[in-house]
Amino acid sequence: MGIAGLDQRFPIHRIYCVGRNYAAHAREMGGQPDRAPPFFFAKPADAVIQADRVPYPHRTSELHHEVELVVALNSGGRGLTAGDATACIYGHAIGVDLTRRDLQSEAKAAGRPWETAKAFDASAPISDIVPVAGTGHPRQGAIRLKVNGEPRQSGRLEDMIWPVPEMLAELSSYFELQAGDLVFTGTPAGVGRLLPGDRVQATIDGLGSLEFEMDG
Ligand code: MN
Repeated sequence: MGIAGLDQRFPIHRIYCVGRNYAAHAREMGGQPDRAPPFFFAKPADAVIQADRVPYPHRTSELHHEVELVVALNSGGRGLTAGDATACIYGHAIGVDLTRRDLQSEAKAAGRPWETAKAFDASAPISDIVPVAGTGHPRQGAIRLKVNGEPRQSGRLEDMIWPVPEMLAELSSYFELQAGDLVFTGTPAGVGRLLPGDRVQATIDGLGSLEFEMDG
């Protein structure tokens, strides 16, 4: 994938995602926010899409947007401390964790896996990576998403239940993190439906914006 300001490409290894990392979103999904350890799921590496138009997925009537800070790693390891994990971060991007919410709700109710809800083709629109070398680590600031110019999601990075370093350390206790890994760090409140033709604009302070249109 692209790197802001550079001709080089960032080769993707895996995509990890964390669930319910902002209290207000945990509540809107019917849960109680707490400091229970974060839980993780994954998308395939080729779910990433960097394009002005994103295909509208089949087999859903409730596609949802989830704007997220995405962390890109250029090294890794197992059993990392929060400090070690921070040193593995190459840069950050703006991502949208597209979700077939109807299929996710069915899967939750039936105790089934989430792949059809979360890991479908083009389920990870993402901006170019902004290297830490240029801007440091965005730990505070607004994270927002608009649809057709109307505000939908609005939150603050400092309101993450599990801040990035601690969350990466926990993730590294399950998986050996590697160069090329992307980690979606959870979404603030205000998730909602996308329809064909909708224009999405996602912004994170210090990282610019990600814009795309849902194809019909
Ligand atoms: Mn998400």
